[in-house]
Amino acid sequence: MQRVIFATGNAGKMNEIRMILADLSIGGEPVEIVSMKEAGIVFDIEENGKSFEENAVIKAKAVAAAQSGAIVLADDSGLEIDYLNKEPGIYSARYMGEDTSYHEKNHNLIKRLEGVPDEKRTARFVCAIACVLPDGQTLKETATVEGRIGYEERGSNGFGYDPIFIVPEYGKSTAELTEEEKNEISHRGKALRAMKERLKTCF
Ligand code: IMP
Repeated sequence: MQRVIFATGNAGKMNEIRMILADLSIGGEPVEIVSMKEAGIVFDIEENGKSFEENAVIKAKAVAAAQSGAIVLADDSGLEIDYLNKEPGIYSARYMGEDTSYHEKNHNLIKRLEGVPDEKRTARFVCAIACVLPDGQTLKETATVEGRIGYEERGSNGFGYDPIFIVPEYGKSTAELTEEEKNEISHRGKALRAMKERLKTCF
């Protein structure tokens, strides 16, 4: 069994990641995906990069340095709202302060878009994935899902900004999609599947 450490403390993300990477095998061996906590790695990583990609690499490298020989994956993701000059962007988790609930963050963003018509409410979720291999090689993949900011919170699946992110093809928020539907189209789903394909060629 090959162990892959995913550098996140977010349970919502771990669920998605386990589903998406369920069929990953490395060198013919099945893969066990563990969180940092499950791997016994407990430290805060300062995400001081200037892009999603830089932050993903910072996280993956920090965990790889603590667990030499491991395969480490990390992601950095967030929401870009065009009308707000791509805010909250790389600050998505820290928007209005780390301890503010997503209910409050979502309401604040809806308020800031008051009176803004549909066509100017465009937004995207972005996900950068970095992978550090046991030989130190770093792989990177970035993907997006395009949508619009809604007028109210809708749905209770998912996490974070899902209730306000409307996917036009479905006419639903990502919090109204099933996990399978979201994984199919999501920024994280696309970036992880691309990384999965690259990993298959590395061993
Ligand atoms: P990260 O954990 O540093 O990558 O922060 C990402 C933040 O962006 C999270 O705290 C979420 O608020 C937001 N985010 C990223 N992906 C999603 C998603 O799929 N749904 C809802 N919010 C997301």
